[in-house]
Amino acid sequence: MKLVYLSLGSNRGDRLGHLLQALEMLTREGVPLRRVSSFYKTQPVGFASQPWFLNCVAEGETDLMPLRLLRTCQAVERQLGRRPGVCNGPRPIDIDILLYADAVLQSSALTIPHPRLGERRFVLVPLRDLAPQVRHPVTRQTVLEMLQQTEDRSQVVKFRPL
Ligand code: ADP
Ligand code: MG
Repeated sequence: MKLVYLSLGSNRGDRLGHLLQALEMLTREGVPLRRVSSFYKTQPVGFASQPWFLNCVAEGETDLMPLRLLRTCQAVERQLGRRPGVCNGPRPIDIDILLYADAVLQSSALTIPHPRLGERRFVLVPLRDLAPQVRHPVTRQTVLEMLQQTEDRSQVVKFRPL
């Protein structure tokens, strides 16, 4: 079993519902999730004139090989109504692989660790909930150090449903 960290985000429709459904579907499809971070409302990065996201990070264990895991995440995205569209634009769900054990790999389809991990507070803040001391396998920085050093200034606000 490999320990994996996945980032989930939604900024269209029932954002919380999409995240909860995706977590359940991943568990059913070969990625049993052990822990989930708090949920955060996050300011869109890049293409700014779109609704804020709801984001979380999940820790799971899987026997799926990396590319198979990516295909599983993409199948869940499709089942929740994601269609190919503007890159970084509004979407019901986005699932990214942040870390896959200590694996380092780069292909046209998949880069692990996620190449923009250190540039996104909306990923680093929820990842810190679960794994502040986990190290990036290439830079050897911890998640906490990456968060302290990132230049991203976008807002990440804890989501309180009640
Ligand atoms: P983004 O997540 O950057 O907003 P997409 O979800 O549309 O954009 O992903 C674009 C492509 O990124 C996917 O087709 C996938 O092949 C590729 N990709 C490369 N590395 C990863 C990774 N670690 N996790 C998820 N997708 C990845
Ligand atoms: Mg993605």
